[in-house]
Amino acid sequence: MALKIGIPRALYYHKFYPLWHTFFTELGAEVALSPVTDRNILKRGSDATLDEFCLPIKVFFGHINTILKKADFLFIPRLISTEKEAYYCPQFFGLPDMVRVAFPDSPPILEPTFNVKGKGATIEGVFIELGKSILKGKSESLSAYKKALDAQAGFYSMIAEGTIPPDVFKKLYNNPLTSVKKEKDYGRTGSQTTIALLGHPYNIYDPLVSMNIIKKLMDRNIRLITTEMVCDDIIDAEMKRLRKPVYWASGREIVGAANHFLDSKGVDGIIFIGAFHCGPDSLLKALIEREAQSGDKTALLSLSFDEHSGEAGMITRLEAFLDMLEIKKRRGLTAS
Ligand code: SF4
Repeated sequence: MALKIGIPRALYYHKFYPLWHTFFTELGAEVALSPVTDRNILKRGSDATLDEFCLPIKVFFGHINTILKKADFLFIPRLISTEKEAYYCPQFFGLPDMVRVAFPDSPPILEPTFNVKGKGATIEGVFIELGKSILKGKSESLSAYKKALDAQAGFYSMIAEGTIPPDVFKKLYNNPLTSVKKEKDYGRTGSQTTIALLGHPYNIYDPLVSMNIIKKLMDRNIRLITTEMVCDDIIDAEMKRLRKPVYWASGREIVGAANHFLDSKGVDGIIFIGAFHCGPDSLLKALIEREAQSGDKTALLSLSFDEHSGEAGMITRLEAFLDMLEIKKRRGLTAS
């Protein structure tokens, strides 16, 4: 019988699932994916964690709770650094340990450490060791890793063509989420309002964490550009303009994309979504808001959520923001 690897539909699932899913299935394992986040999952996560944790971590623990009994192993990578000059938030360093404490009866945890800053550490080597830990050979693991890289590259190119990650997942894995029209560039299209929706992938794409903001915007026929759709060249150029680099993984992309759209006016408005109790987000938010206030910039709305945030309050702010964009457009105040 195939081994079942439990993957929580939370945190970096929203970015790396094609890589992880392909790697394990190529090695003959089955993936047990937790369901789409709902209030019950959040409650389970809140019950298993301390109040001080951010909403995405609570959601993650809720997902773990739903798959505890359905998997032979849980896959919880210890993410430290996967690219030069960028680190994950410290919460990711200790995730496997925190899960073990919260769920002493959890199945064994596959917890590869990804740290390209480590001596001689390569991501390929980590995957080969990961394959060995489920009793697969080196060449089998290497081949699975190469196929997984192809799957991840395919995912990125679909995003680059304008498809948001939940829709890519829907196409690839038949996940029931939202859909978005395919767009080819970042420029505005006729009279349709375009919004850059920025934040960590697990804040933007999780329907409960984001209070379904993607669907709410798309129901209003708004064209969306999310952080992952912005190409690396733009992010790199924006980083060079900063006095100090942003060291948080995702933070580079979020601040780079925000600064680009604040200046380029390629969109009608920008919405930044962050989480309460998040140190990195408070820094990112301050950087983005400071830039937004430094001249004639694109309109910005910052939203922060925790499990007590009310949807009505979010909708009121969102509608006021969209009305303001509409008025600006009608008056021709939005620069082209
Ligand atoms: S970056 Fe912020 S939201 Fe993300 S896991 Fe860390 S504390 Fe939570």
